[in-house]
Amino acid sequence: MSLRLHNTLTGTKDVFEPITRGHVGMYTCGPTVWNFAHVGNLRAFLFYDLVRRHLKVSGYAVEHVMNLTDIDDRILDQAMHAGITIGEYVKPYVAAFFEDMAALRTQQAEHYPRATEHIPEMVEMISELIEHEYAYVADGDVYFRIASFPSYGALSRLDRSGLKPGARVATDKYDKESVSDFALWKKAQPGDEKLGAAWDAPFGRGRPGWHIECSAMSKRYLGETLDIHAGGVDLMFPHHENEIAQSEAANHKQFARFWLHSEHLADATGEKMSKSAGGFTTLRDLSEAGYDPVAVRFFLMAGAHYRSRLRLSDEALRAAAEQVRRLREFADRVRRSTPGPVEDGALLKRIGEVRAGYREALDDDLNLPQGVGLVFELAREANAALDAGRVGESGREALLQLIGDFDAHLDVIRVEEPGLAEEVERLIAEREAARKERDFSRSDGIRDELRQKGIALEDSKDGVRWRRVR
Ligand SMILES: [Zn+2]
Repeated sequence: MSLRLHNTLTGTKDVFEPITRGHVGMYTCGPTVWNFAHVGNLRAFLFYDLVRRHLKVSGYAVEHVMNLTDIDDRILDQAMHAGITIGEYVKPYVAAFFEDMAALRTQQAEHYPRATEHIPEMVEMISELIEHEYAYVADGDVYFRIASFPSYGALSRLDRSGLKPGARVATDKYDKESVSDFALWKKAQPGDEKLGAAWDAPFGRGRPGWHIECSAMSKRYLGETLDIHAGGVDLMFPHHENEIAQSEAANHKQFARFWLHSEHLADATGEKMSKSAGGFTTLRDLSEAGYDPVAVRFFLMAGAHYRSRLRLSDEALRAAAEQVRRLREFADRVRRSTPGPVEDGALLKRIGEVRAGYREALDDDLNLPQGVGLVFELAREANAALDAGRVGESGREALLQLIGDFDAHLDVIRVEEPGLAEEVERLIAEREAARKERDFSRSDGIRDELRQKGIALEDSKDGVRWRRVR
């Protein structure tokens, strides 16, 4: 059994092996922090989480880098209107991004480099590209010369006939040699200084383009060749093509061995969700509409295979919330169950098959929806067996392992109720005090109050313990 991932570069499912045995370097394009993250971007971020978690399940140590684009035209515009620096402008959106990631239970990446904190690395790479004539300066801006990189467009299977150089466009305000050449560096404009958006460079004061940041920061943290580079499919062209061109021209090495792309999130009519289409939905919007972020997580991760379009709708979100509820109920029931008198051999065998099938689905290009489908089928059978007392010690243990298997990716089982533990501990202490004073009506009252909160108390030799009951 080996992990196979659909590699955009080859167009096939390839067996995954990292360069360094047991260790994976993964770079994923992160948010542009000009606003709250859009739910379509969240789908990509949860896809990264799925890749990361399955690599860990597969036994790899993962070094994951996710950049934060904290400088771009929109950020400059907004900061200028607000009369503050770009650093001040992005601050709340950076915080909001990490809040969203925590609410959605994504595992923390090892590094979250910010573009404005890596200008020297970008300047160095741009200088290298200019020196070897992959890039040129035109009126203070620096452009990558597409004509110098013959394999440009290989990732997205671009038809290069439209990219022929020489077609210098007279109306082009930037004096590019070719329309398709892209900016590595933008000359400082009046006003950029006040925004804190200009830096010195040998080729002139200015600020970096968007594409160069990923090439420079991935190299800084992960070296010249990445095991995996992932992103949303909308980034494939031109962003990822440009990253490849910059990195491979500068480093003379393959940039990324596996390119993984997640599909769009669509609205209920099947159209790609975008701000211009009025479909700008954030996690905050969904929370206000009453959806638990954990249900949103389940929907975005398991609602469809990552390479298929997924439609966001109220029905789909409600269905996801219901599926999370069922998984939690199942896990809760198995955990609380005491082994029955009979061990059902056929059920034991089935659990083994489902665990293997789940793993095989994930190993087959991260097919989480298929794996989850197997789990739901088995949960029905296991519930019937629990009803009949046919789940013995081994059966219970195997079910707990299966729950661990799927929750290693989904992470939906644990229920967080902020402040609950503190509240329960406080009431237990109050009840103990009442018992010492032989105020039994008060201590019984507290026990009833806790029971109404779904908490049962157990007296043990280590003192009073509590557990959640339904
Ligand atoms: Zn990128």
